[in-house]
Amino acid sequence: RGKRAFIAGIADNNGYGWAIAKSLAAAGAEILVGTWVPAFNIFETNLRRGIFDESRILPDGSLMNICKVYPLDAVYDTPQDVPQDEVAESVKEDFGSIDILVHSLANGPEVTKPLLETSRNGYLAAVSSSSYSFVSLLKHFAPLMNPCGASVSLTYIASERCIPRYGGGMSSAKAALESDTKVLAFEAGRRHGIRVNTISAGSLRSRAAKAIGAAVDEMIDYTLMNAPLQKELSAEEVGNAAAFLASPLASAITGTVLFKFVEMTTTTTTP
Ligand code: NAD
Repeated sequence: RGKRAFIAGIADNNGYGWAIAKSLAAAGAEILVGTWVPAFNIFETNLRRGIFDESRILPDGSLMNICKVYPLDAVYDTPQDVPQDEVAESVKEDFGSIDILVHSLANGPEVTKPLLETSRNGYLAAVSSSSYSFVSLLKHFAPLMNPCGASVSLTYIASERCIPRYGGGMSSAKAALESDTKVLAFEAGRRHGIRVNTISAGSLRSRAAKAIGAAVDEMIDYTLMNAPLQKELSAEEVGNAAAFLASPLASAITGTVLFKFVEMTTTTTTP
């Protein structure tokens, strides 16, 4: 049988999650999706009504099939709150097991504020929904992942270098996510035989990125000027990288941050 993937963090067809789902589907995987509770109904309805049909087309002309969409709230982990363990439990009941776990979600309520002006609550909210959410997701899904399972998350270069406008503690959250990638690769590798990698992607005009407004365009321009490959990164290229990391071709790769032509450290061009 083909691999089964659970992708957390799809609410439309613009983000990295959707592109990853398509690349995995094109490679033959069965697709399950976790959608944030406030966006769940609209996403499911749009999907059923065929709104996304055009962007469901795979390279062989067939349409990506999403087997099931689950409501998911990545901030809550206790049984009182529609948590991730409940979602993992439902997936287990419906499908038994999965092979691939994708975390493509982030949220920073104060992302437009410089770190120096970020409140404690804003900072903790960013880390909770963008970093701890991965720890929790992996914890709850690892037991239902088949041997040689793989997980992939998405990060951003602001974790290691100062990128103005990526505020609200989001840079801190990505630094945590990358550090956790190493620790969880070790722990989940030893305990479950699961690989844990993250992709540091260049900027994309997704719904989440619109939260920082025109700054995304500046970031895209800056990357274009400084990246080794001077073209705009497409979501599909990130999707394909995720499909590779999740595949047996990457069977010995774990604990890594894979860069998708973000700018080089040695360049001097400024926007
Ligand atoms: P997106 O809007 O498509 O995805 C973010 C998703 O997170 C949305 O579907 C949203 O509903 C979901 N979400 C937010 N809070 C949640 C919660 N509490 N519980 C469950 N789901 C929640 O945007 P995207 O830019 O494709 O983001 C996907 C990932 O890619 C994120 O980790 C983001 O930080 C990362 N990334 C984005 C860029 C970029 O420029 N867009 C660059 C590098 C990394």
